[in-house]
Amino acid sequence: MARVLILGGGFAGVFTAKAMARNAPAGLEIVLVSQTNYFTFQPLLPEVAAGALSASDSVTQLRQLLKGVTIVQAEVLDVDFAAKTVTVTQGSKRRVTNLSYDQLVLALGQVVRLDRVPGLNEHAFAVKTTAHAHRLRNHVINCLEYADGIEDPQVRKRLLSFVVIGAGFSGVETIGELKDMIDRSLKYYPNIARDEVRMLLVEFSGRILGELPESLARYAEKSLNRQGVEVWLNTGVKGATLYNVEMTDGRVVDAATVVATIGNGPSALVEAMAETLGVALERGKLRTDEFMRIPGYENVWAAGDAALIPMKNKKGEDVFAPPTAQFAVREGQQLAANIIAALKGTALKPFHYIPRGSMASIGNFRAVADVMGVRLSGVTAWLMWRAFYLGMLPGMVTKLRVVMNWTLDLFAPRNLGQIEQAHKSGARMMRFSKGQTVFEPGMSANGFYTIVKGSFCVSILRADGQEPFTRTLKKGDHFGERVLFRPDKRIHTGRVDVLEDSLVLRLEKDDFWRLAHSMPMLESYFRDYIKEKFPGDLQPEEIHDDVN
Ligand SMILES: Cc1cc2nc3c(=O)[nH]c(=O)nc-3n(C[C@H](O)[C@H](O)[C@H](O)COP(=O)(O)OP(=O)(O)OC[C@H]3O[C@@H](n4cnc5c(N)ncnc54)[C@H](O)[C@@H]3O)c2cc1C
Repeated sequence: MARVLILGGGFAGVFTAKAMARNAPAGLEIVLVSQTNYFTFQPLLPEVAAGALSASDSVTQLRQLLKGVTIVQAEVLDVDFAAKTVTVTQGSKRRVTNLSYDQLVLALGQVVRLDRVPGLNEHAFAVKTTAHAHRLRNHVINCLEYADGIEDPQVRKRLLSFVVIGAGFSGVETIGELKDMIDRSLKYYPNIARDEVRMLLVEFSGRILGELPESLARYAEKSLNRQGVEVWLNTGVKGATLYNVEMTDGRVVDAATVVATIGNGPSALVEAMAETLGVALERGKLRTDEFMRIPGYENVWAAGDAALIPMKNKKGEDVFAPPTAQFAVREGQQLAANIIAALKGTALKPFHYIPRGSMASIGNFRAVADVMGVRLSGVTAWLMWRAFYLGMLPGMVTKLRVVMNWTLDLFAPRNLGQIEQAHKSGARMMRFSKGQTVFEPGMSANGFYTIVKGSFCVSILRADGQEPFTRTLKKGDHFGERVLFRPDKRIHTGRVDVLEDSLVLRLEKDDFWRLAHSMPMLESYFRDYIKEKFPGDLQPEEIHDDVN
């Protein structure tokens, strides 16, 4: 039986899988791999951040959504295009599995990459996942709670200043929604005056909403101004600290909340794939041909934000499909048809889609819309915006839930309870009993383990087939560093067996990196340790810089 393997459970992946399941010939297996077990409707995230909807309203479980599709919740680690296998890892032990494919769809989207502006990685909020939106909502409520009870004018000013960087759809919608939320909530914070709240939208180019006609963008800007949102155009951001954000023209704004809707880029995985495929990333994306196939590969396809797909616009000019949900949905549907055609040996169709329109909500029950050339703004556009996104939302139950919560939000005050998500500490204790196994050979470790009590036996297979390298580790010793210090994701664990009842401190990979990288003595300790303890073929490569 032929297998179509779809990597990514976002708009492109889900709509490819849906269309495949509907139209595929009998006997075709469709498998979708996603690191979450749900699909996120990203356009609703600004409303989640502003508490108009809850995080669960913006997601739908993939198994409910995709009948006839096998769902694998796992993180994709690597693709071997020659062997036609994808390596994935699952569970807290990061067990590694290889999935084979006949046809492969790369729909892994983009990730937030803020490393180009100092301080944004550390201090800016993103709005790309439900966790981001939830965190931003809690932080904004925290600022209001704190500001209501504090007198220091400097601190009050910082707490009540909210800066959003980037005035595309997500930036405009985020600032509009946050402004709404704050305005509606101030009656519960008697010590905060309305004019103390500062909302600032910063945009590098000369206009907001670059995807919409200029007249609508101007309307949106004026409407935001009327609501009390300042808009700084032609302004870049130079850096951010815990206390402020600095613009390239030297202006500095004290703010405890900086939201960055800029900086989408390829994940490290997509970069690695491009290298293996032997194609250069263009604009941070995998360039496809007009059929959405990676040139030179009969059975590898890409769609959505991760792909750069050439097409013709309505004037017949050569353009690339823009990175929007609307396009990702059409790409997915066309891609499914093309894969089926390829399997049947019939002609493929180039990707072509003329969008029906674009719209953006700007808060305060207003939106701007360009629908088939008709330009609308205000409440009518806002109603259309809601109807349009409701139509796009997958799953009847999700639609109903969103309609109910939207309706409730028209009359009821926002829920300002700061429901904390369980805090997952980067350092935690773990207990093991004698005879248990921590790692089996071939897992993909992402933690660093220090032995607090007890002992372990580590045994690592050698590449040359000689006797395994074996050591006994006791209190104060550690393991995990050999895998973490290698940039090559293909290096896997050896076997780690528990020799007596033991207690270990486990440090998450990213926390370990931050610590090792920030303390030169730790970094040189590990460098020397690995050189000394792991002989010959176990020698690690240079410690890499990727600590963020
Ligand atoms: C706040 C916000 C508002 C937006 N508003 C609009 C709007 O109004 N209109 C519009 O058209 N577009 C909008 N967009 C853009 C739109 O959401 C994206 O264009 C769309 O999500 C792209 O779909 P995709 O499938 O390519 O990527 P995504 O939806 O990002 O999906 C990528 C998938 O790949 C998975 N994945 C990634 N790496 C791995 C891995 N290693 N292993 C396993 N799975 C992995 C992810 O978990 C995810 O499921 C908005 C985006 C944001 C963030």
